[in-house]
Amino acid sequence: MSAPANAAEPLLRVDNLSKTFPLSRKSLLGERRLLRAVDDVSFSIARGETLGLVGESGCGKTTTGRLVLRLIEPTGGAVLFKGIDVLDRGPAEMRALRREMQIIFQDPFGALNPRMTAGELIIEPLVIHGVGDSVSRERRLRRLLDLVGLTTHHAGRFPHEFSGGQRQRLCIARALSLEPAFLVCDEAVSALDVSVQAQILNLLQDLKRELGLTYLFISHDLGVVRHIAERVAVMYLGQIVEMGPRLAIFEQSGHPYTQALLNSVPSAGKGRRSFFTVKGDVPSAIDPPSGCRFHTRCPIARPICSTTTPPPVALGPGHTAACHFAAPGNASRPQ
Ligand code: SF4
Repeated sequence: MSAPANAAEPLLRVDNLSKTFPLSRKSLLGERRLLRAVDDVSFSIARGETLGLVGESGCGKTTTGRLVLRLIEPTGGAVLFKGIDVLDRGPAEMRALRREMQIIFQDPFGALNPRMTAGELIIEPLVIHGVGDSVSRERRLRRLLDLVGLTTHHAGRFPHEFSGGQRQRLCIARALSLEPAFLVCDEAVSALDVSVQAQILNLLQDLKRELGLTYLFISHDLGVVRHIAERVAVMYLGQIVEMGPRLAIFEQSGHPYTQALLNSVPSAGKGRRSFFTVKGDVPSAIDPPSGCRFHTRCPIARPICSTTTPPPVALGPGHTAACHFAAPGNASRPQ
């Protein structure tokens, strides 16, 4: 099953990934309605890289993370991990692949069985996958506790005896138990206090360096993403509207939606001169707006925006924005 490693090849490649959910209620005309949660999404992540995936709640970023891990089945598209077509694998092969692709959830408390001790929770994936014996698992447990900044004293405690930050450390240790190469961090620090957020972000950075990990870091918070991601993809209503290196996104963003998001996070948009703000709610993904999906909220929308879907425009090395008037840092905007 394993494909030969190629250093130049991205660890993860996602091509035209889509997911529609059929709704139980039909339209007035009796047609089955579809919710387009993820629509034609493509990106890649190099080995050892962190890609930040950002957007408002309900934009499809969490669904994208789950599709990549095949926790839910895509409607279309392809996911290649180390060159292996993830969507084409049978149950046994998928089980083996899952050892290399793990997820850290937002709610550490909900993700942990309250009746299991920290030690049992951390080695449970090893037991499920039949990895090692009791001696090697105990050795691995010590190593994992040490890696995430916990001690052997914590191993016998139950999840409710931990603070929020300690619980997230526990979840990270559990996610690392099978020695994965790739982690989806789904709002991994969103439920934590700001000071604890910083500790967990630093821990994730340290682990990445020490273990050579690759992250898809999903967050609604651009301020957090700025601290951890080397590249950033911005999602709106199921589509990626802008993608590029961190500096390009934070200093020279070319899409009005990205600029509006940056303006809502003063620390993230520090030093910028944009005037865009985003108002109102995200439209429904059941019947998304025609043309550019952002046109109902865009402060500079023009007639073409509601009729014609904007293709991605190259703004710099690895930097694209899907806007008819895309320009780095607000240059050449229609008046
Ligand atoms: Fe705004 Fe039009 Fe650009 Fe969409 S294509 S972001 S509506 S200017």
